[in-house]
Amino acid sequence: MKRIYNFNPGPATLPLEVLQEAQAEFLDFDDSGMSIIEISHRSKPYERVHNQAKADILELMNLGDDYDVLFIQGGASLQFAMIPLNFATVKNPGSYVLSGTFSSNAYKEAKILGVAEVAASTKDENFKRVPNQDELKINPNAAYVHVCCNNTIYGTEFHYVPDTGNVPLFADMSSDMLSRPVDFKKFSLIYAGVQKNLGPAGVVIVVAKKSLIEQSLETLPTMLRYDTFYKKNSLYNTPPAFSIYMVGKVAAWIKNSGGLVEMARRNSIKAKLLYDAIDNSDGFYRGHAEKNSRSFMNVTFRLPNDELEKKFVAEALEHNLSGVKGHRSVGGMRASIYNAMPIDGAQALADFMNAFKKSNA
Ligand SMILES: *Cc1c(COP(=O)(O)O)cnc(C)c1O
Repeated sequence: MKRIYNFNPGPATLPLEVLQEAQAEFLDFDDSGMSIIEISHRSKPYERVHNQAKADILELMNLGDDYDVLFIQGGASLQFAMIPLNFATVKNPGSYVLSGTFSSNAYKEAKILGVAEVAASTKDENFKRVPNQDELKINPNAAYVHVCCNNTIYGTEFHYVPDTGNVPLFADMSSDMLSRPVDFKKFSLIYAGVQKNLGPAGVVIVVAKKSLIEQSLETLPTMLRYDTFYKKNSLYNTPPAFSIYMVGKVAAWIKNSGGLVEMARRNSIKAKLLYDAIDNSDGFYRGHAEKNSRSFMNVTFRLPNDELEKKFVAEALEHNLSGVKGHRSVGGMRASIYNAMPIDGAQALADFMNAFKKSNA
């Protein structure tokens, strides 16, 4: 068996222990004589998986009984539409902080519905930083302020929780959910497509205040209403059982590894290794993000020219370092170092960066 260091942005690397555990129990799950993807979503063994995953996520986030966890399909991209459909109106619009591609996509959906406004934007600076608190225009009549905490494509991250006063704070945490301790209570609604940091593609975790999701507009179709998922424990229709099962395993792995404090410790070591390689390269590597907005999850950088960038990707792969090519809208390189990336993997990439610079500068 050959496992390589996988720096892909999503779907992304998962903890080896989790994959092995799933493999070991795949053919006969919980003495059922069936695999987890063959049993009924109404069966006791599945119900245990489903409810344990929810409980572990809330525990990791240090949230109490006033929040619930929903499992919804359609990716983070469907949340871009569900949020304004459920909460925004012309009089009380959704207010969007534009800090990259996905926050702009979220804004676009609300705009289609005619219920969007902009709270701040760093588009003019090619999204190389996130807006500061004092740049946020908080409209007291807004239904919510929407932020994207980690900008997966540009490699920037909020290192503060925006203060939105009495306006509920909503966040797309797809690419940094459960990567570090956050005061999650400051958020009214958080969502994350799990395929970045928490599991295989197929499910979105929505963590929201119960008071917000217990009653949706009567005019909304069943599957677009948060209250459908809330009232039916995300079992109104068939849930993506395998994705939820894997997310549960990853949440347990985080708990057993020392929780979010330990994730943050590891993630900051990995990020420092790569940012040091950039900063100590005499300008050979140029980071995209401004230093105080640098992401601990996605490290973006460029080389002096296209040819060297192609060569870097090819030679990295020869060193078992895969998935370092950046997104076409930013160019250059992107190394995604989610929870499951071992420190050894970041060290191997930093060593490779230093050696590549020496022989190509
Ligand atoms: C990948 C990503 C999305 C899009 O997720 P889908 O599940 O593919 O719709 C949204 N937001 C962020 C921050 C992402 O990284």
